[in-house]
Amino acid sequence: MSSHVVQQLVDVDAATRARLKGQKPVAIWLTGLSASGKSTIANALEVALVERGRHTYLLDGDNVRMGLCRDLGFTDADREENIRRIAELGRLFVDAGLIVVTAFISPFRADRALARTIIGEDAFVEVFVDTPLDECERRDPKGLYGKARAGLIKNFTGIDSAYEAPLSPDIRLETLGRSLPEVVRQILGYLDERFAATDLTTSRSAANRE
Ligand code: ADP
Repeated sequence: MSSHVVQQLVDVDAATRARLKGQKPVAIWLTGLSASGKSTIANALEVALVERGRHTYLLDGDNVRMGLCRDLGFTDADREENIRRIAELGRLFVDAGLIVVTAFISPFRADRALARTIIGEDAFVEVFVDTPLDECERRDPKGLYGKARAGLIKNFTGIDSAYEAPLSPDIRLETLGRSLPEVVRQILGYLDERFAATDLTTSRSAANRE
């Protein structure tokens, strides 16, 4: 970074923006193998939060890779840079007052730890979408495991690139044999408990009526 870059002071701060939105801004960081359920869960979670009157933003792997990170591939170094950029983006959205849901494989512990540092411990929720590899391969909604097994895709997580499962995630979600609403309820329950004082998940209209 150039030593001539000086941070500009601004009058409207993160707390003001959060107060205006009436919510605790956080990043809900989903990590797991391809086809574990990250995008599906992230989408359903965002719907549930919006139904509760929350201001949200969803960052999803494929979308980001088509834009902000389109210059990056799937080598270890590129995956690391991909996650760093997403974390910086997540930090800005949290600073803007939003509840951010991210759905990226984010296979390396060190990169997720960096994301936690960038976004800030008190606003970071690591969610391990814990679906066994053989179940992910069975689901294979995009046919990617088939291609990876045939050698047509290199550096595929779980096949010829490592997935380092979180050792102590904030939430561990099992999806095998569980319905999507059940899984979403587990996340909402956690958010309710951890951020109870800030009333993150209760319906605002319901709260206003009380
Ligand atoms: P990822 O984003 O992790 O690559 P996707 O969400 O694209 O995964 O795909 C997961 C697949 O698993 C979807 O086809 C989804 O319908 C299916 N699935 C089955 N059970 C569940 C569950 N409990 N939660 C989430 N997805 C599930």
